[in-house]
Amino acid sequence: MTSLQSFASLLAELRVIDWVAPVVCVICAAALARGITLRSLVDRKLAEMGERELELEKAAMTDAVTGLKNRIAFSRDLETLLDRGGQGEVAVLFLDLDRFKEVNDTLGHKVGDGLLKGVATRLREMLPEGDTLARIGGDEFAAIVRIDPTRPVDDLAIAIVEAVYEPFLIDDHVVHVGASVGIAKGMRPTSSADELLRQADIAMYDAKFSKTDSFRIFDERMSNMIALRSSMRLELERAIRNDELALKYQPIVDSRTGELTSVEALLRWPNSSQGEISPGDLIPLAEESGQILALGGWILDKALLAVRELKNVPIAVNVSPIQFRHHGFATIVSDKLLASGVSPDLLRIEITEGVLISHLDAAKSTIRQLRQMGVVVVLDDFGTGYSSLSYLQNLDFDYLKIDKSFMKDLGRRQLATQIMRSVIDLGHSLELKVVAEGIENDWQARLLQLLNCDYLQGYYIGAPMPLEDLHKFRLNNDVREKLTRASAETPELPSAANG
Ligand code: C2E
Ligand code: MG
Ligand code: MG
Repeated sequence: MTSLQSFASLLAELRVIDWVAPVVCVICAAALARGITLRSLVDRKLAEMGERELELEKAAMTDAVTGLKNRIAFSRDLETLLDRGGQGEVAVLFLDLDRFKEVNDTLGHKVGDGLLKGVATRLREMLPEGDTLARIGGDEFAAIVRIDPTRPVDDLAIAIVEAVYEPFLIDDHVVHVGASVGIAKGMRPTSSADELLRQADIAMYDAKFSKTDSFRIFDERMSNMIALRSSMRLELERAIRNDELALKYQPIVDSRTGELTSVEALLRWPNSSQGEISPGDLIPLAEESGQILALGGWILDKALLAVRELKNVPIAVNVSPIQFRHHGFATIVSDKLLASGVSPDLLRIEITEGVLISHLDAAKSTIRQLRQMGVVVVLDDFGTGYSSLSYLQNLDFDYLKIDKSFMKDLGRRQLATQIMRSVIDLGHSLELKVVAEGIENDWQARLLQLLNCDYLQGYYIGAPMPLEDLHKFRLNNDVREKLTRASAETPELPSAANG
């Protein structure tokens, strides 16, 4: 007999079955009922866990400040799109804010966060619903753009740059920033997500360093530029150390007498491995690499030496925004003036609006310190920015230099002439001396004379030249005759000036 059979006969003997059966039934029913409740409880718990997991996953894919997708989600979306097996072109758009760090540093992180949210909202409004938009770094945004033949990506990039350029109002602060945009185009399914993002990043970088464009579309040449930039950095270091850089000097003359009144020092790097590099490229490179203070110091030293050689002809030195914003800038200038023995009124510091944006108070104080020393302060490239009038009202400049871009249509289009007249009058009404730069022909020179512009500068007067040639320029100065001759040859100009 098995043990089970003997156990059953024992229970029968004890008549246990009679009372055990109902108890077992009750227990079973209760267990069953409880089992069901437990089951639904488990289901509910599982569902909750699923939701939590989804929430956690969503949080891991979302940028906490803007609510946009983050870099991980962006890469995943891009990979999915490329792997899905479909065909056709896609574009990755990479946007980096200009001057975001300045906003954060000067107005604080709360305003910085507000700015990022504002940018995110504007970008979202500009992109078709369903297109991935993400914040992929501190001030970097990226979007996956489906190529639409009716709307070229170039147009979208321009529209985005313009939208970001519009001022933001954040906690009572009016904040101005810009954007640099890079675009990389790829084909499904062959392109790789990482490569597309890398190329868009390179194109953005190229746009940032371009003086003319705010967006660029990737091409292979740009990869070479990256290598070039890193080698140039080392070369520049060596060039500063070995005194391989040079300054050229461009004459600035009195518009009535043609006499040399000052010169502008312009940086040149004659023998770099890349041939002559324009200061427009070199200065941003030095700013980026942290070499601008050393370079700016070298330029000031060299210019002050030239003033001594030129026997009291004032010299204008361009100062980059980062150099000007350095907290010790006024002290550096004062020390250099003392060391060189040059009188402060022979030094002119040219700054552009870039210096003033987001740093108005600091700029105000530096301008005040320079002027108190007797140094002359010039607002350069006037008219190329977008809020020049408020800067003019709030800051004490001595000179206003009208940007050369105004020169193009002067004397040819009536409106250009009228604008020039208004700008000169505006400068005079604020008791500023007005300089016009970029004068390339007698027509422009004569007209500016008639419009009462105080000083003239440009190839027509004299191109930037080495110091030795400036001595010759002074000795054989024929600008006065040129201006008179110009006046005789352009008899119809007075009516253009009037109209
Ligand atoms: P900027 O200060 O407005 O200098 C005037 C620019 O116009 C110079 O270009 C000059 O060579 C050019 N120019 C002069 N006359 C004419 C003309 O008649 N027609 C035309 N089309 N152009 C003329 P450059 O030397 O290439 O300098 C470009 C910019 O680079 C300067 O603009 C200035 O912002 C910056 N820069 C030049 N030298 C220095 C420097 O030593 N330090 C710093 N921080 N920036 C510098
Ligand atoms: Mg200048
Ligand atoms: Mg200028």
